[in-house]
This record gives sequence, C-alpha cells and structure tokens, in this order.
Amino acid sequence: MDLKALIRDIPDFPKPGILFRDITTILNHAEGWRTLVDDLSDRCREYSPDYIVGIESRGFILGAPLAYTLGVGFVPVRKPGKLPAAVFSQDYELEYGRDRIEMHQDAFPPGSRILIVDDLIATGGTAAAAAQLVSQGQGNLVAYAFVVELVGLGGRSKLPAAPIITLLDY
Ligand code: IMP
Repeated sequence: MDLKALIRDIPDFPKPGILFRDITTILNHAEGWRTLVDDLSDRCREYSPDYIVGIESRGFILGAPLAYTLGVGFVPVRKPGKLPAAVFSQDYELEYGRDRIEMHQDAFPPGSRILIVDDLIATGGTAAAAAQLVSQGQGNLVAYAFVVELVGLGGRSKLPAAPIITLLDY
C-alpha cells in the first residue's frame, strides 16, 4: 500500500505560498487507514509506552487507535480552555505570534513512559511544546511519532531528545 500516493497536496493553504499535505485522503481510504494505523503501531510498540499523548486535533485521530492497539491509555493535549480539570500550559512561537496548548495535570503518574503523536512535523514548535507539557508532568518521553515529516524545515532539531518515528518524508 503506497501511503504517500494517498496524501493530497493543497497549494496556498492556509496561506499563499504554503503547500499543505492533506492526510484526510488516507483517513477515508479503508485499506490506507488500516495500513497507516498498523504501520504506526508496529513502529511504536518497541518503545513500550504507558500512554499515548495526542496533539489536537489530527493527533487525536491517530493517537486513539494507536493507544487502543497498543493496549495503553490516551491523553489529549488541547488548545487553551478546553480541558475541564487543572492543566499544565505551554506557550510556543508560531510564524506570526504565539499559541498555547494544555494537558491535564493528573493525566498520567510521574515516571510514566510517554509517546507523543501528531500527524505532521513542520517547524517542530507544536511537538516541542507537547514535550514540555510531558516534562511538566514528569513523564518519561520515550518517542515521538509522526505520519509526515517536512524534512526541509528542520523541525526535529527543535525537539527535546527522544527517538523520532516518521512514516513519510517530504
Ligand atoms: P509545526 O509546529 O510547525 O511543526 O507544525 C505542526 C502542526 O501544524 C501539526 O499539528 C500539524 O497538524 C500542522 N501542520 C503544519 N503544516 C501542515 C501540513 O502541511 N499538513 C497538515 N498539517 C500541518
């Protein structure tokens, strides 16, 4: 199954000059979707995570079946103001301005083995902020997993050190 062939390129989204890699065309392809979840699970299993931490919102779509398949818990990292209980917050830089993500303080016990998942790594700012949240919760970050890496943007150099799993490179 050629997963790369199922990714759709959308020019000038969300802004002029950006080439958006759209994975919804894998999600709605039954065989592609199953292959994606199976491949990602196989790659992640060797790190024996206790929890999958998924980043809103495409990290939820991927993280939920990953956690289910590996038989571990799922923890959502959300945009500000969405989580109901006490949260850790982390600000991070965007191309223009700043953003913030949050995670429940009691989402996992200190020392838990944590694997962070998102659909794509570009500049690395989002995943780096998620890693800071894991660190605030005293998690043991065992790996990151992304379906797509935009290699030219050098995002992986921004991430706190841990193995990085990627399925498709651009
Ligand atoms: P970063 O923080 O620059 O690494 O951007 C990664 C975040 O932006 C992820 O949560 C992605 O879902 C989203 N993102 C950035 N570029 C793309 C793209 O081309 N396709 C899909 N998502 C993208």
